[in-house]
This record gives sequence, structure tokens and C-alpha cells, in this order.
Amino acid sequence: MTEGANAYRGLPSVQQLLQRPDTIALIDDHGRDCCRDHLRAILGALRADIAGGSSSAPFDAEAIVAQLAEHIAMRARPGLRWVINSTGIVLHTNLGRAPMAREAIDAVVDIARGYCSLEVDLKSGRRGARTQSIEPLLRELTGAEAALAVNNGAAAILLVLSALAGGADVVVSRGELVEIGGGFRIPDVIHQGGARLVEVGATNKTRIEDYRRAISPDTRVLLKVHQSNFRMLGFTQQTDIGELREEADLHGLAVVVDLGSGLLRHGSTRLEPTIGDALAAGADIVTCSGDKLLGGPQAGLILGRKHMIDAIARHPLIRAVRLDKMSLAALEATLKLQRDTPGKVPLNAMLSQASTDIRARAERLCNAYGAGEVLASDAFTGGGSLPENRIDSFALHLRPSIGAEDAAARLRAGDPAVFARISKGELVLDMLTVRDDELDSLLTALRLALT
Ligand SMILES: *Cc1c(COP(=O)(O)O)cnc(C)c1O
Repeated sequence: MTEGANAYRGLPSVQQLLQRPDTIALIDDHGRDCCRDHLRAILGALRADIAGGSSSAPFDAEAIVAQLAEHIAMRARPGLRWVINSTGIVLHTNLGRAPMAREAIDAVVDIARGYCSLEVDLKSGRRGARTQSIEPLLRELTGAEAALAVNNGAAAILLVLSALAGGADVVVSRGELVEIGGGFRIPDVIHQGGARLVEVGATNKTRIEDYRRAISPDTRVLLKVHQSNFRMLGFTQQTDIGELREEADLHGLAVVVDLGSGLLRHGSTRLEPTIGDALAAGADIVTCSGDKLLGGPQAGLILGRKHMIDAIARHPLIRAVRLDKMSLAALEATLKLQRDTPGKVPLNAMLSQASTDIRARAERLCNAYGAGEVLASDAFTGGGSLPENRIDSFALHLRPSIGAEDAAARLRAGDPAVFARISKGELVLDMLTVRDDELDSLLTALRLALT
């Protein structure tokens, strides 16, 4: 008999392992089939190791069951999980954009648990509009005549153009035919909406005369797209909403503005035009996201003239892009905070932190970790707001012995995962986007990943 055959004989069987008390405890929690399948996989891997000569008897049954417990724990770990964002980018699309307010989270939990008044009018008992709970709030906050909410900003533009310009012409400046991100390009959306794109002007300059020359009996909409993620400098000119309004009135056209960020009011700095600004300047319809500067859940808002909103709400595509009850609950709660106590919206709180507080947080982390240096840092709004919207911040700079790239990779793989920046070979942990109550977890993650 060969030594290899002896080695296989030393392996416990699946049946033997399933009868051990430590396995039975796992079976009670996770089911017999699950434990059996994982044990088969573990034993299969051990057999492969034996065949490859990298493993031999005796085999410790206890160690095999410990491995089983680890496999099951890995399987239970959520794929979508909490991340500590120390990139300093406030609205990071890949990290889920705006963090939600306590009140919005509570509203989601309440609504998710049972049934809700999603599409009923509680007074009459008849059918109601899905977005009836948020429409008055949106009108109050922006001055719009009417409003509607859909699944996201992209869906909002698609729906608006389908309803207002399907089969007709949409005139857009060549300087605004942008790609927002993830391959989402304005010209493609116009085509998908069944409208025809009429490009006017040059990349760097578009004047009102360019729009005027392009208008024909087939034109329905003059579209203005906010240049979210890039900025043109130098010899440039764009037409403002007021000029488009005047021209549109001469021909009975609609002015649609894709604003992107959804700012409700100006803070200490004028980050972006607000929804109200765009409407007051003459937009018939404004579209934006719910999870950018508005600070709420993923959603697309459509605001403006009542007769147009009514037409948009009747378009068949609305069913495909409607907002779910949990997002509606979170959006309503966020809008109420924005109206009454805007400081309670985490995004607003994050953007209005005193730099001394950010610095204190960085120093606390630095002292507790016992290494590195606190330096001034440039943080950014992100999420389709202007790239030069730089925010003064502070960051902990570390020079990990394993190198910044490896350190960043290990932090990402941790639990919680941590996202940091790398700059000039240093690991940079920006403190603008880290909450006080995340500091302990961040410290633990650093110790685990870097030592
Ligand atoms: C972000 C953005 C969009 C897309 O909105 P989503 O909510 O990400 O679908 C569209 N237009 C502009 C100008 C934007 O900034």
C-alpha cells in the first residue's frame, strides 16, 4: 500500500464530522444541507492537497469544523456592506452618495415593516398618486407649481424628454453633450427617449442665435444640461436659462434644465445653482437627483409647470421608472428636515463642519494610532457638482511599512472596509467624510490592516 492511500485514510468522513457536537451546533443554526455541502468542499480541497503532496495525516477534525464555521461566516457576510469613506469625496457615487439622516432611516424601517398608504388617499379611500406625500414639500421648498419623483436622475431626463419631445426635436448646445458617468451620455438618452437631437454652437461657445437658427416646426424642447463633472476654461460662452426662456416663448417651446445636483438652498458658499434658481430664471421643467446635494435617497426629481408635470405623469414609461416605497419614505423625511432643520441632514452637517472640528478628529485618530502626521487636505463635493468645489479639510498621512498601495488594498478588504486616498506614496485618510462615531472602527481597521 502506498503512503498516499494511507494519507487519504487518515481523513475523517463527512458522516463522522456531522456527528460531532461542534458541528451539530452549526447544523442547528445553519441547517444540515449547508454544513454537509461545505464539509464536502473542505474535504475535497484537503484531498487535492494530499494528491499534490502539500498535506498529510493526521487530520484534526476540530480544525476542519473550525474551517466549516469560517466558511459559513464568510457566506453570511453581506456583499453590500458598510464602508468608512476617508477619501474626502462627500458624494462618492461608488460608495452610495449621500448618507441618510436618522429620521429618514426610521421612516424606511416603519414603512418596510408593514403595509402603507403608497397609492391610496386616506380620506376618500380611493386610489391616490404615488408621490402625493412629497409633492407639497417639493413645491414649498422650490416654488415649483408641481413635482414628481422617479427612480433616479437619469430616469427623470429620459421620462421628461419622452413625454415632452418624443418624435420631435430637442435642441442642445454642443458644450453640454456630456457623459455624466458610467457611460451615461446625454445624446444617448435623447435618442432613447424617441426624440431627435439637434446640436448647436461649438464645444466652447454657444450663443442664443445658434439656438434660434436651429428651431424648426419640429422643435419642442430647448434642453440645458448642467456641466456637472467638468469645467471649460478660457474662451467660452454658454447661453443662460433666461435667454433660452425668451427664445422659447417666441416659438411656444419648453425649456428643460437637467440640473444634476438638486441643491435646495445656498449655504455660506454658492456651490451650485438651486432648483428654485433654475425655475425662477425661466425653466419650465428642472430635473435632478435625490441623493446628491439634496442629501436624500436615490431618486430623480422632476419639478416645474403643472400642465407639463401632468403630461409627464401620464406617460407609459412612468411605470418603468417609478420610485419604491422605501425611497419615498426616506425622501419625504429628508425633505421635511431640509425644510425645518436642515442641519440634521448629514450631508449639510458634513459640508458645514468647522475646520477646527475636522482637525481635532484627525488629531484624535493620529494620537490613538500613534503614528503619522496631520496635514491640511483638499476634500471635494463630488457627485456631479463642480470639480473645483474644493473644501478645506484635514487628513492623517501614514507611511505604512507594507507600502501605501498594499495598505489601501488591505483596508478595503477589512470589516468594515475603509476607503482612503493615496498621494505621493502616502496613505491619506481625510477626516471630512468620517463621522465621530466611526473613529473607533477606523482605528481598529488601521491596526488590523497595517500591522
Ligand atoms: C448626476 C447627474 C445625472 C444622473 O443622475 P442619477 O441620479 O445619477 O441618475 C444627470 N445629469 C446631471 C447633470 C447629473 O449631474
